[in-house]
Amino acid sequence: VFSVKDFNLWYGDKQVLTDISLEIPEKKVTAIIGPSGSGKSTFIKTLNRMVELAPSVRMEGGIYYKDNNIFDDAHTQVEVLRTEVGMVFQKPNPFPKSIYDNIAYGPSIHGIKDKKILDQVVENSLKGAALWDEVKDRLQANAFSLSGGQQQRLCIARALAVEPEVILMDEPTASLDPLSTAKIEDLVHDLKKDYSIIIVTHNMQQAARVSDKTAFFLNGELIEFDETERIFSNPKDKRTNDYVSGKF
Ligand code: ATP
Ligand code: MG
Repeated sequence: VFSVKDFNLWYGDKQVLTDISLEIPEKKVTAIIGPSGSGKSTFIKTLNRMVELAPSVRMEGGIYYKDNNIFDDAHTQVEVLRTEVGMVFQKPNPFPKSIYDNIAYGPSIHGIKDKKILDQVVENSLKGAALWDEVKDRLQANAFSLSGGQQQRLCIARALAVEPEVILMDEPTASLDPLSTAKIEDLVHDLKKDYSIIIVTHNMQQAARVSDKTAFFLNGELIEFDETERIFSNPKDKRTNDYVSGKF
């Protein structure tokens, strides 16, 4: 769904991504692993042009979303890109609004005003994020009344509500307990029927459990990108092997 070609990125004078090239498959889960500071978050934020919100960022090379260069404003409107490529962060960040309004907000600014349709979008999105049964009787409650794991699933539901094709997740379970983590992992597994998912994780068991392909980043370089099974059982590069066997 994304094709990344010789991509480089600098923050000021500091090069953070170096000659990254990879093809991110459609309707699969791609995991991004690597030590702290290796450029994982920067890389996924580039995919929906969130990285440009930082000052003094400079980029070279190409990133194509369904064959369109995402930096070519004639072909890619950044608002449309961010609708098609949704993002979920490490810390759940619901809006300080009701559960209902968290989800209805995106579709309503995209022009859906009919209450019946919005109700349906809210229900479908919450079902898609495996949260409906837990919240259907309290849709008007404030989102902050939910547990951390529920808030994270609400954020996933909010992303689903605008009908994305890709969901970027930056360490979505890092702040959650094991049970909430397992629920998100199950959800990721279900979502890949309909979405292309890219998940950054520090948790190698998680990458091994949920992903089809894994990219290993180190110091801003893509060291290895392959089938997840291969990365964890028989990687080509010694550095990948050291990392996945916990030697970092
Ligand atoms: P972690 O696992 O700790 O989340 P990461 O792999 O996601 O790390 P990034 O957040 O992408 O790493 O950071 C890569 C490098 O870019 C780091 O050296 C970081 O300090 C630097 N960096 C990130 N954001 C900015 C910014 N807005 N301005 C300047 N430098 C930045
Ligand atoms: Mg990060």
